[in-house]
Amino acid sequence: MEQKIKHHLTDEVLMAYAAGTLPEAFNLMVATHVSLCDECRAAVESYDTLGGEVLDQTPGNDVSLTPGSFAATMALIAGGAPDTIRTTRGRDTVLPQPLLEYVGGGLDNVKWRSVGMGVKQAILPTSKDASARLLYIPAGMAMPDHGHHGTEMTMVLQGAFQDDDDYFARGDVEVANSDLHHTPVADIHEDCICLAVTDAPLRFEGLLPKIAQRFARI
Ligand SMILES: [Zn+2]
Repeated sequence: MEQKIKHHLTDEVLMAYAAGTLPEAFNLMVATHVSLCDECRAAVESYDTLGGEVLDQTPGNDVSLTPGSFAATMALIAGGAPDTIRTTRGRDTVLPQPLLEYVGGGLDNVKWRSVGMGVKQAILPTSKDASARLLYIPAGMAMPDHGHHGTEMTMVLQGAFQDDDDYFARGDVEVANSDLHHTPVADIHEDCICLAVTDAPLRFEGLLPKIAQRFARI
């Protein structure tokens, strides 16, 4: 049985997901998290229901309801955020369902590229307004991931990491904004694999020399 998830997505993000206003990379993060987290999945479902109610109850709405309105609304909902994450058949003990399509299979199919010191990454194909990548951090190694621009969310898929007083295990998400300076360190017991999304797409490339420099000092 999996350990209970302690670090969740924010209500703001879950509402934006239900409303279909997130970039694709963030949709992927939410879909992946809710596939493991009953609590957030229930919240998304309630926001979906609430959204439908608001549409239904809005007075002075000059869009008159016709017999086709309900079907049209449902079609819009069906074509909204959650379904932009295509799913595929298949099971993987590390990669939840929403990630399988992006990877083109399970963990064995991830096209890792080394970024030095045993750390590897795989950029996932999403729209350019935000980026998603898988990170592979050897046990005990500091993560090359520091929020300085935009919003970053990092979710653990395998292993765990420690950041200050907080411990993040499978399913847990760390949400970092531009003012957070942190040094997550992978748990010593197992190599850590994470899904990381950020709305500052090119920042990671720009940081690479600094990361190499920092690792070189270890
Ligand atoms: Zn959650």
